[in-house]
This record gives sequence, structure tokens and C-alpha cells, in this order.
Amino acid sequence: MTRDGTPAEEIDTSRPHPARIYDYLLGGKDNYEVDQRAGDALAARAPEARVSVQANRAFLQRAVRHVMGAGIRQILDIGTGLPTSPNIHETAQEAAQDVRVAYVDNDPIVKAHADALLSSSGATSIVLADLRDPRSVLDHPDVRRIIDFDEPVALFLVAILHFLTDAEKPQQIVATLRDALPAGSFLVLSHATGDLADRRDAQAVYNNATATMNLRSHAEIERFFDGFDLLEPGLVQVPFWRPDTPPPARSDEVGFYGGVARRT
Ligand code: SAH
Repeated sequence: MTRDGTPAEEIDTSRPHPARIYDYLLGGKDNYEVDQRAGDALAARAPEARVSVQANRAFLQRAVRHVMGAGIRQILDIGTGLPTSPNIHETAQEAAQDVRVAYVDNDPIVKAHADALLSSSGATSIVLADLRDPRSVLDHPDVRRIIDFDEPVALFLVAILHFLTDAEKPQQIVATLRDALPAGSFLVLSHATGDLADRRDAQAVYNNATATMNLRSHAEIERFFDGFDLLEPGLVQVPFWRPDTPPPARSDEVGFYGGVARRT
């Protein structure tokens, strides 16, 4: 065991992990030298990387508050990442104590850390499953225990789809998930882009990681919302999605698009 109680055999420190690179960029402590080197290389090639992940996290919080305000009481968050305060269930519980949250990630280290955090709660669960097999997520007994697919669900796919290659058919995967959601459900999605600056160098940092980075254009990302109605202001750079503080003056500083949509 490591000092924080995580089973040592599950921790692979030979390759950077997306969850740990992200945690490092956010200023978290659940990362290793290999992730720090990758994060530094990323920030050297994409100077906006740290600002972008912070802005993505702030978008996530605003989206949680939005769907809670719309009456949602169950959240399915795929690609959870390492615990980062405040976590989705903490923000959601401020709006309604009875909210249920199923967290899904394919990285065992995320599950180990989240298990430690969630042990006292019966309304939240962390499930080890892979988005590339969406049925394994939808049919997972722990997901089914938390989420009732006869009631509206907010599906969060925040900063995860860029870890899927086109060959893995992310469009089809999102459609499979969409078809499991009843009317009144929401999709909250963000995705890294190279539209605003050439970021092929930065993307290459992930070539040696456990998942590759696949930057997509605004038009490609918007297609993930097929079958949903995008809420105003549509798919925008994340600081511009319903900001509650003035967004940055320079819009090219953030390489993530985000949007929230409703299934009708
Ligand atoms: N959604 C969080 C964390 C994003 S980091 C946020 O926006 O703040 C991306 C997360 O997606 C990582 O934890 C990584 O392990 C996870 N991930 C990447 N590919 C995945 C896959 N195929 N299935 C499930 N999780 C995946």
C-alpha cells in the first residue's frame, strides 16, 4: 500500500495518465513525476493549458448548478477524474440533498481515490468502466443502483471525448448513451480543440500516455449534440458558457468548447 492507502499494484507510474496530468495542471497532489513531466511539456507547448483546465472545471460547476436548477436529481458523470474540490456531488448537494451521482472512470487510480472519498455515502458511487463500451457503463449494476433511467438524468461527458480516437466511434458511443436517456435529460459536454491555435505539438505529449489526445473542431464537437437541443449560448469556449463572473477579455486563451443540451 502507498501512504494514502491506495493498493500499490494498481499504480502504474511508467506512463503518464490523463487523470493525473489533469490533476497536476489543476494544482492537485495525486500525480507522479511522469505526469508532471508530461504536464510541463504540455504547458510549454500550449501556454493556455492551466488556464484552460481551470476554466473547464468552472464550466463543470456552473453546469451542475444549471441542471440542478432545472430539477435534475440524478447525474451520470463519465470520465470523472481524480477528486477535485468541489466535486460534482458536493456542488449538486448544495442545491438538493437527495441528488444521486454515479461517477465512472476507466482509471483504477481514480476509483481508488474516489472510493476513499465516497465511502460514507449511499447516494453516490464510483464505477470502474470504459466509455468505449457504453453498454458496460449503462448496464453496470452500480450505475443501475444509483440511476433510474425512467427519470431524467444529466449525463456529463466533460473533458473526456478527446481521449477517444475517431476509430473508436465516439459519435456512435454518445448516441448509445443518448438513446438510454428519457426526455427532460441533459447532456453536459466539453472537449479540447485546436481551432484557436495549432496545438498538434501539445497533442503529441499524450502519444506516450495511457490515452491519446484527439483535438476536434467546433463542427465536429457540435455533432455530439445530435438528438439534443443545445441551450443558449450553444457550444462556446467554456468561459463564455453562462459566466457568473466576467469572462476573460482574450478568447483565445482557452482551448475547450463546452455546451449543455436538453433531450426533448
Ligand atoms: N471530467 C473531469 C475530469 C476530466 S480528466 C473534469 O472535466 O474535470 C478525463 C478523465 O477521463 C480521466 O480521469 C480519465 O481517466 C478518464 N477517461 C479517459 N478515457 C476514458 C474512457 N475510455 N472511459 C472512462 N474514462 C476515461
